[in-house]
Amino acid sequence: MKAGAKHDPMPATPAYPPHSAPRLYVDVELSDGAEIRLDGSHAHYLLKVMRIKQGDPVKLFDNRTGEYLAHVTALGKRDLILMINGKTREREAVPDLWLCTAPIKKDRFNWIAEKATELGVARVMPVQTERTQGHNIKMEKLRAHMIEAAEQCERTALPSLDPITKLTDMLEQWPADRHLFFADERIHETGEGSFRKALVAHDGPAAILIGPEGGFTDRENEMIRALPQSVPVSLGPRILRADTAALAAISLWMAGRGDWNPG
Ligand code: SAH
Repeated sequence: MKAGAKHDPMPATPAYPPHSAPRLYVDVELSDGAEIRLDGSHAHYLLKVMRIKQGDPVKLFDNRTGEYLAHVTALGKRDLILMINGKTREREAVPDLWLCTAPIKKDRFNWIAEKATELGVARVMPVQTERTQGHNIKMEKLRAHMIEAAEQCERTALPSLDPITKLTDMLEQWPADRHLFFADERIHETGEGSFRKALVAHDGPAAILIGPEGGFTDRENEMIRALPQSVPVSLGPRILRADTAALAAISLWMAGRGDWNPG
């Protein structure tokens, strides 16, 4: 402690950096008592960034069975061995909501995927539309953003991530029992499209469809509306950017039909 620290208004244990164990997602099924070898970016993070030592705790989750507490039993230069010493949580239940959204500029699309993970969607489906630009999205990067959000936010489940699908193909294969809440910025002025009413009327599995920066074309708009499962909804009288629209729609659904209401 520095001289004069007793007059320091800062608390003795600052909230950051966190004192909790590092938390990582691993793409293998975990079980109590198992030994796990980590290499690559996981090992780099633990060894070089966190400077982990023999015996230190690490939390692991596998998106399959839950979350576990593990301890370091052996350290290499580029890899390390962890021993799992107990399950801390079962995999959480995930509300049955998909997000179908047209890729937008790279950073903003990564941001959508990250926030959709935090807000709790079950599946992210990138959709190619007539006005979709720069749709060479990097799936690995996108996935990494989702994983990082889940690691940080104590999640034990990750949304699945689909390869980009053409809007026409997506609509053709749309499941009969799933409502498609179609965010249509043009519906508000007609006096229709109340999201609240749509949520009251449409229970069960759901998805949200958000257009690209330039919106859907008239032809696409008609095609989406022709789908019997489609429910056009307004997100208010103001035009939102696609990323804002995605988050607003997810939040509304979570509060109305998802798991945001305790008790
Ligand atoms: N048509 C506009 C804006 C597109 S906004 C343009 O030409 O630039 C991108 C997407 O966000 C839209 O396709 C729609 O799905 C959603 N969106 C934005 N504002 C909305 C609102 N007020 N209500 C419903 N959806 C909205």
